[in-house]
Amino acid sequence: MSASHLFGDQTIVDALAGTGEFAHTFGGEPDRDDARPDCTHGIRLHLLYRFDLTDPLVPIAVPGLKWLPLYYVFDFRANEVGYTLHSDASMTTYFPTDDENVSSDESWPSDDFPMVFPSHSIELAAHSFDPKNLDDAAQWAGVFGIRHLADDQLAELKRLIDAHCDEIGDYPPEGDDFYDYLCSPLWQGTPNNCCINPGCENNSKPQSLNVLALVPHDPIPGLEIWGGAYVQTIFEICPLCYTIRSSNQCG
Ligand SMILES: [Zn+2]
Repeated sequence: MSASHLFGDQTIVDALAGTGEFAHTFGGEPDRDDARPDCTHGIRLHLLYRFDLTDPLVPIAVPGLKWLPLYYVFDFRANEVGYTLHSDASMTTYFPTDDENVSSDESWPSDDFPMVFPSHSIELAAHSFDPKNLDDAAQWAGVFGIRHLADDQLAELKRLIDAHCDEIGDYPPEGDDFYDYLCSPLWQGTPNNCCINPGCENNSKPQSLNVLALVPHDPIPGLEIWGGAYVQTIFEICPLCYTIRSSNQCG
């Protein structure tokens, strides 16, 4: 089992199975009617987490909301889903219209894939992170970037990456290619997504979203959310309209 992470401004919080003071949960039925298949073009959304935003450990706020649900679509008819949370009772769901790599029929990561994940209590714990520390910045560069590092730390990081390339027989990166090596902990780098809300200014702006959460393939003891495959589920949030966009990356 591995912790899921919630991200705020230079802040990391771990989400783990356990009972704390707040009623955060994993799994269970969708928390609002708009997330049920008859409101989502027949495509089932799975509720992963539901966080209580009044917990001071939650590193983000969404205006007008107490509850923050993290939904993902495991039916291969969509690889990504977005949703705007209007209140604790309603939301609007969007699926990308330009994704060709989807199935035309309902299909799932495994034959016995659960239609609802079993419900668990979740507690949060602060995760130590110093954006000015070289190791921390490199470890979480795919989420936060490395803009808080000093010039001498950047030079050291470049030296370490060059040495790593040398070790594995690769050419050292030139120019901005250096940043391609700074995607940790995301396997394929920071998603290059626009806001999926068609009414938002960021709808046509790639890289306009902030990484909100990262869910591993095994977030709960004894549960593999991708039927045993090693897949990261990533949630991004638009800083203008708070629409959430979830996607996945394979190792
Ligand atoms: Zn937006």
